[in-house]
Amino acid sequence: MDCLFCKIVNNEVPAKIVYRDDLVLAFEDINPQAPHHILIIPQKHISTINELTSEDNELIGHMVQTAKLLAKELNVADEGYRLVMNCNASAGQTVFHVHIHLMGGRRFTWPPG
Ligand code: 5GP
Ligand code: ZN
Repeated sequence: MDCLFCKIVNNEVPAKIVYRDDLVLAFEDINPQAPHHILIIPQKHISTINELTSEDNELIGHMVQTAKLLAKELNVADEGYRLVMNCNASAGQTVFHVHIHLMGGRRFTWPPG
């Protein structure tokens, strides 16, 4: 399958990996939008949030728990951080393998752009 993030999971494309377990992988975004910008992805390929099934509930929960732990490790848990999931074109999704953006280290505005 020609998926960039699957290639990162399989070590075919290099990335600055910060966390890996049986279910998920987390690595630094190549084009950071904040002082800390980490992507948390499932190891299995799921294109968009629309393809999630109830069988993925534990997996998605684990992705969020991983983001929470990484935010604490990065020392942004108390000051605040942002988690973002983009779904399909209008939301700005460019890589079609589900991921959570974890961004921290600066102030964020609302509404987002
Ligand atoms: P999306 O726009 O799909 O929500 O987010 C995709 C993210 O993947 C973007 O923030 C982009 O900078 C990041 N990205 C794209 N290509 C690469 C890559 O080759 N390596 C890494 N580490 N991040 C990438
Ligand atoms: Zn993939």
